[in-house]
Amino acid sequence: MKVFVDGEETGEKKSGCALCRATWGGYYEKIEDREFFFCCDICAAEFRNMVNEVKKREGWSKIDELRIAGDYYSGRNCVAINNTEHVKFFVKFGDEGKIERFEITG
Ligand SMILES: [Zn+2]
Repeated sequence: MKVFVDGEETGEKKSGCALCRATWGGYYEKIEDREFFFCCDICAAEFRNMVNEVKKREGWSKIDELRIAGDYYSGRNCVAINNTEHVKFFVKFGDEGKIERFEITG
């Protein structure tokens, strides 16, 4: 799975946290087919919950590409791609990486 945040590919130590692009910290977690770099365990939990929610709602077994824009405070507008299908959604996280709002937007 490739991940882009505000148009830049992320998920490695040098490119930044897969969710927020921060380059500090050092928390690694394997999600789907690869190990992602996160700044902290909260970002990893948010990311994991978001991936699982998209797969559950769409009935997908995987996500090939995830494009994320926004931040914790305003929420994030995202696009997930699986083969030739794609879904747009809005997600906002609450405490401890839990999903507070999730809406399919297109
Ligand atoms: Zn982060």
